[in-house]
Amino acid sequence: MDKIVILGGGESGVGSAILAQAKGFEVFLSDNGPLQDKYKLELEKYAIPYEENGHTESLILSAKEIIKSPGIPNYAPLIKLAVEKGIPVLSEMEFAKRYTSAKMICITGSNGKTTTTSLIYYILKSAGLNVGLGGNIGRSFARQVAEENFDYYVLELSSFQLENMYEFKADIAILLNITPDHLDRYDHDIQKYIDAKMRIAQNQTEADALIFWEEDPVVSKEIKKLISNGRHYTFAEYKTGDAQAYSKDHQIVINTPESVFIMEQDLLALEGLHNLYNSLASGIAAKLLDITDENLRRSLSDFQGVEHRLEKVAKVRGIQFINDSKATNVNSCWYALQSMKTKVVLILGGTDKGNDYTEIEQLVKDKARALVFLGVDNSKLHKFFDGKVDKIEDVSSMKDAVEKAYSLAHEGDTVLLSPCCASFDLFRNYEDRGIQFKECVRKL
Ligand code: ADP
Repeated sequence: MDKIVILGGGESGVGSAILAQAKGFEVFLSDNGPLQDKYKLELEKYAIPYEENGHTESLILSAKEIIKSPGIPNYAPLIKLAVEKGIPVLSEMEFAKRYTSAKMICITGSNGKTTTTSLIYYILKSAGLNVGLGGNIGRSFARQVAEENFDYYVLELSSFQLENMYEFKADIAILLNITPDHLDRYDHDIQKYIDAKMRIAQNQTEADALIFWEEDPVVSKEIKKLISNGRHYTFAEYKTGDAQAYSKDHQIVINTPESVFIMEQDLLALEGLHNLYNSLASGIAAKLLDITDENLRRSLSDFQGVEHRLEKVAKVRGIQFINDSKATNVNSCWYALQSMKTKVVLILGGTDKGNDYTEIEQLVKDKARALVFLGVDNSKLHKFFDGKVDKIEDVSSMKDAVEKAYSLAHEGDTVLLSPCCASFDLFRNYEDRGIQFKECVRKL
């Protein structure tokens, strides 16, 4: 019996283990940290052997294939050893795709993945398709392949997953944008990150579609190097080049070979320029899947949005509080600031991922009444912003951040948590940071 080893025992790894076992492999799961109780119980229920808090090399390097969770970098010593020994290292997607013939709608990009994936899933589900949602979201894709029988999957793919995908092919691939992110995992070499993202188009044939943002300087350059053959569909704010989807005279227009879809832009549920892009990309995918105009219009206008992404929390004495905790890089904060119609007190800071704040400098100068730095080490922020904004305050808890921002804001202003940084210095993750923000706002 061939042996599959799974590295990482979170949702992705445990889902892969369940699928591998169901397909008749000998399975072993190994994690160098502790496993959550719910996952241990599951592995025990399926009688899948596992280890936690460390890896036993001999057990791992005897595998025919290794499935690696996205949190483990390819430069981890064990992965390097496996590669040297010629053992294929796959992502969960690569493995699970072998066992389903469902149509794959796959979304990647530096920003907007979760929003767009959720929106497309919502459109397809509301139209009555038998569809699963997976990738970086919710239940793992592998687990669903083992337990469900969907006709379509909408998958959010990160660069980390794409790095270890080889034969995988998306029927519809969406590449939202590429801006610097996670450079700490790519030797600070953006080309390596770009190459991983571009894998979204790999193996596509003329029967497949690649949807991308026409105006993205990185993507438009990289597209020329592509050797896959997917049909190209592009979106842009306005029709300048060849874009099939765009905004015109307060309407959005989506052209596909079979149809022209038009809708009042004001009716879109998601606000802001970035969300116009997300809606256009989703609209192209929906029309390629023959969703009726009526269904698409309804879903684009009643989608509820996703928590922690430009989420309106409350208005307190005329001051609007917005939770954009998921803005963990500079570009997403740029879009948040860009969509603000009032003066802003911006809360930012956290674990820096190699940020360059030049991108938001002008918007901060134009719109920020004050900055509140929320982090263990705010020195890099001070170095960049000192002297550029009148008021800057340092805090080290969410409670202080919210109270300080509230005291600095004037009536009619917005207090925006859009941190540009990861959250791990003071919070468990971005969700924890967003939830604490909302709790503190509600206590004002
Ligand atoms: P991801 O899953 O790629 O991290 P999310 O949908 O979770 O993307 O959004 C992350 C952050 O990026 C949020 O702050 C959100 O407001 C912002 N954002 C969403 N869509 C886009 C886009 N198309 N371009 C730039 N920023 C975006």
